[in-house]
Amino acid sequence: MLYNQPSPLEVKVLTRRFGLENSRSLGTYLATDGFRGFRRALEMTPEEIINEVKLSGLRGRGGAGFPAGMKWSFVPRNSPKPKYIVVNGDEGEPGTCKDRVLIENDPHQLLEGMLIAALAVGASAGYVYVRGEYRRVIEILDRAIAEEYEKGYLGKNILGSSFSFDVYTHTGAGSYECGEESALLESLEGKRGVPRIRPPFPAVSGAFQCPTVLNNVETFCAVPAILRDGGAAFADLGPPKNGGTRLFCLSGHVNRPGVYELPMGFNLLRMIGEVGGGVWKGKKLKAVIPGGSSCPVLRAEECDLAMDFDSVAKAKSMLGSGGVVVFDEDTCMVTVAMRLMRFYQHESCGWCIPCREGTAWLRKLLVRFHAGHGTHSDIGLIGELARNMLGRTFCPLGDAAAMPTIAFVEKFREEFEAYLTRGARHEVRVHG
Ligand code: SF4
Repeated sequence: MLYNQPSPLEVKVLTRRFGLENSRSLGTYLATDGFRGFRRALEMTPEEIINEVKLSGLRGRGGAGFPAGMKWSFVPRNSPKPKYIVVNGDEGEPGTCKDRVLIENDPHQLLEGMLIAALAVGASAGYVYVRGEYRRVIEILDRAIAEEYEKGYLGKNILGSSFSFDVYTHTGAGSYECGEESALLESLEGKRGVPRIRPPFPAVSGAFQCPTVLNNVETFCAVPAILRDGGAAFADLGPPKNGGTRLFCLSGHVNRPGVYELPMGFNLLRMIGEVGGGVWKGKKLKAVIPGGSSCPVLRAEECDLAMDFDSVAKAKSMLGSGGVVVFDEDTCMVTVAMRLMRFYQHESCGWCIPCREGTAWLRKLLVRFHAGHGTHSDIGLIGELARNMLGRTFCPLGDAAAMPTIAFVEKFREEFEAYLTRGARHEVRVHG
């Protein structure tokens, strides 16, 4: 899935340079308002920069949706330790591929966002942790970093100021768990990628036990526009407390899958119908995962919904990382639940028992059920097992596996029951 089918409904803030010739070059970046936000930030105090980000209503685009400006304000000003900026570009959530297109098309936007964050908290160095499979992305980013060093936008005394900042890329090794912020920091330090006990949170003790701002790629990419045009202009693009636009990765059974930049609060049914060209092959909509595989599925009748953090939470799901996965009327939801649990069981780091054992048992139960050997009591057992994992695991991966499973069983119970009478002969297609 690529960013290759712009929709007239898109609002171009983060994607404004996509499609331009040499959109990855510093020359193109500078010719299209690049570094205007940073230059403005150079004349502001750290408090003023943070207040501008707070005013924008920018919330973390990695999944949790925590207000970015508030996160930055937690970094202790008077700490004698060095401070760091860390970018989470691990992007392992099934259904999500926006960070890749952001770096591939406009790497300097990310670097400018890091520089502004560094000014706001007094950081001297930054790390971009990129998913290991994204080899091309890392090459593009390394080239952009080298170009900025050459032209004085990175390194010592940037643009003649007293501010200096270095950036390094760091490659992940294919672990979904390393997308969790504290596991990412462990991995960045060269250790096994398992989560840390919190508190302390990264703002106080992050990379190398020093104060750290850690945000997702898309979050940093939004920052240059906020400083350039003002926080209020960004906030006005979305509903209250959900400022700006976001990149939605529309996939599954739609006619025009792709990554689309839309205002926060855009209606989900319009996204599928008008942006994605409707459900493919003229079929009816059955369900949607609204924010990546760890978000509870919505039935078609729940999809007349504003896609912002608060509205999707009210519908008892999550906006997550913006991975919108569409299922047509013929999709077998038992198969979907089984395949997702295979993924979570494989990716569980094994650190804590409820997740390590829970995902393994859920996978076994779902595989057995899917093979036509399930019993009526298995339906209740799958839901009960998943509910027992909720809130009892060391990091959010346990919940990420349990929450969608509970939703599949509760919202599509009739499909699970149909397996008991029709067994494995039941329709098992997921993707065509
Ligand atoms: Fe590891 Fe799962 Fe426990 Fe997270 S919840 S620490 S992934 S075992």
